[in-house]
Amino acid sequence: MAETKKKKIVSASTGKEVSGARKKATVKKQAAPVGNATGLRVGAILLWVVALAFEVVAVLIFNKTINLTFMPQIAQIIIALVLDLICVIIGSTLWKKANHIKPASKKNPFLFWLWNNMGVIVSTLAFVPFVILALTNKEADKKTKTIATVVAVIALAIAGLSSAEWNPISEEEQQAAMTEIEGDVFWAPSGKVYHMDEDCQAFTNSEELTVGTVEEAIAAGRTRLCSFCAKRHDVNTDGLLTDGNEDEAALEDETVDETEEETTEE
Ligand SMILES: [Zn+2]
Repeated sequence: MAETKKKKIVSASTGKEVSGARKKATVKKQAAPVGNATGLRVGAILLWVVALAFEVVAVLIFNKTINLTFMPQIAQIIIALVLDLICVIIGSTLWKKANHIKPASKKNPFLFWLWNNMGVIVSTLAFVPFVILALTNKEADKKTKTIATVVAVIALAIAGLSSAEWNPISEEEQQAAMTEIEGDVFWAPSGKVYHMDEDCQAFTNSEELTVGTVEEAIAAGRTRLCSFCAKRHDVNTDGLLTDGNEDEAALEDETVDETEEETTEE
């Protein structure tokens, strides 16, 4: 199936072909609906409760209170810890999604911190007590103790890394973006950035773009406005997240003498 294809852009909303003369040919699809933040949070909390229940099961197996005789004890412990891990990760994914639909306000710094760190807190609760109990258990044999502890620590690391909010946004930043930007925005299959122009220079060729509102972009984890697009459209970027907030000064200083870098200590 290697014949040359004629590139065609179809609007997902109207089903009609969009004029084909764009140099950066892309397939566009319509954004998913934003979804219900409360429902996602309830789902997250339920999964986290189940995760903690699996941790309790792991502890009970370790203490030999529970003993499924058809399986070695260490296998039972590992299964309980893996189920614990799966529930933590899915719960955190739902929670983070909810944070991008209905972000916490920065007016309450503690709640903002808590909302964005719930996944990491739950990850800690889901494995650290097991590790402490396993390490302080004097009756368990050394091999079981070592393997169970190593598995729990690895699970803790995986849970923590995948539950952490790497891309936080506040209610104020979401509102600023929704106020400043009118009409549809566009985003690529990966990354944190949305664009106002589908032919933005930051897109590479033949990327599949999603089109939607700013609210939908943020809900999809695209929390930052492209700084090229912001400049081109003269958007007031005070109070909204862009991909250039941190680097803007650096970009303007690109001509700075490179020897400066060489003074770095060895
Ligand atoms: Zn752009």
